[in-house]
This record gives sequence, C-alpha cells and structure tokens, in this order.
Amino acid sequence: MPELPEVETSLRGIRPHILEKTITQMRIYHPKLRWDILPELPSLLSGRKINAITRRGKYLLLHFANGYMVIHLGMSGNLRITGIQDPLLKHDHVEWEFDDGTILRFNDQRRFGAVLWTQTPEQLSLLSILGPEPLTEDFNAAYLFNRLKNRSGPIKSVIMENPLVVGVGNIYANESLFLSGIHPLKPAKTLALNECHLLVDAIKNVLEKAIQQGGTTLRDFVNADGKPGYFQQTLNVYGRKNQTCHRCHSRIEHVKVGQRATFFCPNCQN
Ligand SMILES: [Zn+2]
Repeated sequence: MPELPEVETSLRGIRPHILEKTITQMRIYHPKLRWDILPELPSLLSGRKINAITRRGKYLLLHFANGYMVIHLGMSGNLRITGIQDPLLKHDHVEWEFDDGTILRFNDQRRFGAVLWTQTPEQLSLLSILGPEPLTEDFNAAYLFNRLKNRSGPIKSVIMENPLVVGVGNIYANESLFLSGIHPLKPAKTLALNECHLLVDAIKNVLEKAIQQGGTTLRDFVNADGKPGYFQQTLNVYGRKNQTCHRCHSRIEHVKVGQRATFFCPNCQN
C-alpha cells in the first residue's frame, strides 16, 4: 500500500513534468473508484493550469484557479508520466493530457483510490480530520505527550491514528517503536516525555529515510515502465518473526495489535 513516503515520492516524481502546464483534456476510462469521479471534472479542468502541487497526509492536491483536484492512491494506485504514443495499461482509469503533449495517468488495480474535486480543501472532511504532518515542527514531543495523556490503548495503535499524526503506517509504526525502544503494547498514556522525544525522532527519521530512498527510484518511477516507484527499506523488525534482532540477537516476536501485524524485540523494547 502506498504510504506517506511513496505519496511524497509520487509528488516529487510528477511535479517537474506537469507544474504550471495547462490541461487540454482529461479522459476517464473507469469512473468508479472509491467514489465515482465527478462527470463534469473534465470540463472543469479543460484549459486550466496547475498552479501548485502539494501533499496533505496521503492526499495529493493539484491547485487550479477554480479549485483543487485531490488524488488518493488507495491500496494499489500509482501515477505515471507518459507520452500520448504510450499504450494504455490494464487498470489505467484516468489520464490528463497537457498542452505540451505530456500525459499523466492514474492506474489502480483495486480501485480504492480517489480523484476528487473541491473548492475548499479545508472543508473536505477527509482532510479536516487529519492531524499534523509528521515532518513538521507541529509534531513534537510536547504535542505527543499531551495527546497521549488520556489514552489507555497500546501506543502502537494510537500512533497510527490519523487525527493524532498523519503518515505513520503499520511498517513505520513497527520500525519507529523498535528504534525508540518502546514496547508496542505499552499503554499510550504511560509514555514519559523523554520516550515521546525518542518516538517522535524515530518517526521523523524513518519517514525521511524512506523518502530519500524513494528519491533514488524516481527515475524508474517517471520512466513509465508501469511499475510504481515503491521501495523496501531495510527493516529491523517488520516481517522478521523468529529472526534475530540486529542489536541483541534475541528472537523477534509477532503479535496482532488492533488486527495489524506487530513485530518487536522483547529485549530491546519495554
Ligand atoms: Zn533486540
């Protein structure tokens, strides 16, 4: 599933190809994504220039003078830059053609993704419930400590809640808790301020590293080989059940926390 780093990588991959270019045509081949694509979207976008491209959580926002197109990659979506001569691939559901012939295509095998239109993104409920961006200063130890005060659930589940902070997907939650030495089942409200410091730093480091590694696959990403530019980070605990801890050689354990696969080192994390 595309996580925040993959979405950021998508943004950096497509931005130089389409920023400040004008859409001449939008073609919808399959309107039924997670929500139906607005039938009048092609006419709303025709002749409109992309003024900016930004990201909020896992949503991409393309800014136009008359509104915002919001794209979510869902479970299996990807965006790629092609030319008009490149044949459509299976599961290419939407494409946008620009005045210089550049094509942006949205491919989504499972169709949990979304292409939405709004004039006021701050009023879009999908966006308004989102907590701070993890890589900004709004996400810091004091903030986290305060928000965890009344939360008795396991820290692993709480840290993955979008209203608390966006972008901490399952792999990143597992890895960040390992790096900060915190047991995933520890009740959230029992974290000390210094543990919040460690966890915030670990989350920022893990996400930044993933974005940097994504950057190295950017060439493939925009070269339209049909493969999304996702990548595998070197993992300390995730997916390593019964393997030895890189730090202490204990066996990595696996439990389900809130239905999500959870891995930890029983010696390094408490
Ligand atoms: Zn260990």
